[in-house]
Amino acid sequence: MNRETKVCQKCKKDFWIEPEDFKFYQKISVPPPTWCPECRMVRRMNFRNERALYRNKCVLCSKDTLSAYPEKSDFVIYCHNCWWSDKWSTLDYGIEYNFSKSFFEQFKDLMKKVPRPALSYTNAVASEYINYGVNMKNTYLTFGSHDLENVSYAKTSAHSKDSIDITTTLWSEFCYETVDCSKCFKVFFSRYVEDSQEDQFLFACRNCSDCLGCANLRSKSHCIFNQQYLKDEYDKKIKEFDLGSYKNFIEFREKFKEHVLKYPHRFAMIRNSINVIGDDIRNSKNCYWCFFVTRDAENCRYSANISDATKDSMDLTGAGLDSELLYEEVSGIGRRSYFGVKIWYSY
Ligand SMILES: [Zn+2]
Ligand SMILES: [Zn+2]
Repeated sequence: MNRETKVCQKCKKDFWIEPEDFKFYQKISVPPPTWCPECRMVRRMNFRNERALYRNKCVLCSKDTLSAYPEKSDFVIYCHNCWWSDKWSTLDYGIEYNFSKSFFEQFKDLMKKVPRPALSYTNAVASEYINYGVNMKNTYLTFGSHDLENVSYAKTSAHSKDSIDITTTLWSEFCYETVDCSKCFKVFFSRYVEDSQEDQFLFACRNCSDCLGCANLRSKSHCIFNQQYLKDEYDKKIKEFDLGSYKNFIEFREKFKEHVLKYPHRFAMIRNSINVIGDDIRNSKNCYWCFFVTRDAENCRYSANISDATKDSMDLTGAGLDSELLYEEVSGIGRRSYFGVKIWYSY
């Protein structure tokens, strides 16, 4: 099948359906979309409220609970403990299907009746103020993340420990104020850093240790502002900078910002990947228009925030963990699941 141009029924702009898209729709027997990829993404994002949280009351136990839904929402909200308890059954809310009414009308009514959890997380121990989390221990105020331990104030991070203020940070320990970093140890105030340790203020560096205020370095130690020093000189310089002083810290941070601007920036952070278009993608192949892919995605299209081995899927927002054949999913983990919101471990 050839590429087809369509008019998006939402924004009225032209969009393409590619031959690869048609193959996927045929494979899972769904009609081609009538909305463009961007409008579809916006529609999905409307179903994933990660961080606008409200004080609410559990309808079952009447206790106060933090909730992704305001008190005046249309939905029946249960606190985490009640929702996971045996005090109720989803089957009690079953309705007889009425063939004279539309499916979506009845589905909407059902959605309003069946209790939903105030927040969305599973397998969490001693963790508070978290939403969209899986496998968390001692985490606090953390969103859209999984497999974290002793971590606070994190977003879209995974497989990391003992860190604070991290965003899209993976397989790391003792990190602070890192964005898009992976396999780092004791890395602070840094962005796009990989396989590095004991560094501060790095930008797009890889395999570095004991470096300060550098950009685009590969396999270096004891560098400051991209200049090589001997270990003794480096240690002396570090003491002189005295970054424990707030005034010095702020001054240094401004200098670092200026320093980084002097260096070329990669057009996209695509690592160890073949035939991919998007940004922030690791170890993946054949992905088109994908963003924030932690690892091992294959044959995915029009998706963002996909974690750990997602295959043959399209139109995902927050999905993954060994998933396959997902379509139009928000927060999906599983196989052969289409048009779902928060469908976890379903096959
Ligand atoms: Zn559109
Ligand atoms: Zn309750």
